[in-house]
Amino acid sequence: MSTPHRPIVYIISAPSGSGKSTLVNELLGLVPDLDFSISYTTRAPRGSERNGKQYHFVTRDEFERMVRDDQFLEFADVFGNCYGTARRFLKEAEQNGLDLLLDIDVQGAVQIQKKLPDAVSIFVLPPDRQTLEGRLRKRGEDRDEVIRRRLDTATGEIEQYDKYNYILINDQLEKSVESLKAIVLAERLQHSSHTLSEDEKRMVKLADSSRLKNVRDRIKPILESFRKPLPPAQP
Ligand code: ADP
Ligand code: 5GP
Repeated sequence: MSTPHRPIVYIISAPSGSGKSTLVNELLGLVPDLDFSISYTTRAPRGSERNGKQYHFVTRDEFERMVRDDQFLEFADVFGNCYGTARRFLKEAEQNGLDLLLDIDVQGAVQIQKKLPDAVSIFVLPPDRQTLEGRLRKRGEDRDEVIRRRLDTATGEIEQYDKYNYILINDQLEKSVESLKAIVLAERLQHSSHTLSEDEKRMVKLADSSRLKNVRDRIKPILESFRKPLPPAQP
């Protein structure tokens, strides 16, 4: 009997507006055999979101029942709503020979790291506060007050960057997509025993350049841009 497939679990987190959804969508189109875990949430769907696509939208009662039945690998309260990763996604990835991508917040990432210490964690950062604010405004989903709250929350989230294996500073989209793809594929290569081709060596090098220890110096000015006091809100 062949040994069962052990999925590589990739965690991706980011302050809202950093470009995580954009990067995840690009990645899923580029990398084969990677499944996306569709979380359960009690928040209401936004605009074009559909049940079962971006999230499974459930009532608080349903969510609490799933918690009681131990159906979640992790769950957390984020901005006043509950979000959780169902255990069954991991089981399905195992059965189907796929790896699994989790788009979850820092609280969820910490829970997964305790349960699955081999999980690969990636934190996406905007180049600075002004750029993040610009992206949130360009997206046009949130009112000024919500944007301010998101920017405030971002500071606390960014301060937790060192809980992650890789830090991806999302400046130029194309480069960020290449780096994210390199991280995913380089981690797969660690589990294979073949001699690396020149292309694969280049990919491993690109992935390494996003490792926490190699980006620490670039994070400092980003954090500083978030810690500066904000000008007063426009009436
Ligand atoms: P998140 O999922 O992190 O909240 P989104 O993927 O919705 O963020 O991105 C927020 C906005 O920023 C979107 O309008 C997106 O098109 C834009 N965006 C994402 N990455 C970049 C980038 N590297 N450069 C410029 N704009 C970007
Ligand atoms: P949004 O409501 O804007 O889609 O997501 C809000 C936050 O919840 C994001 O940081 C997202 O990564 C996080 N999130 C989404 N699904 C889960 C989940 O299953 N578990 C946890 N812990 N966080 C999640």
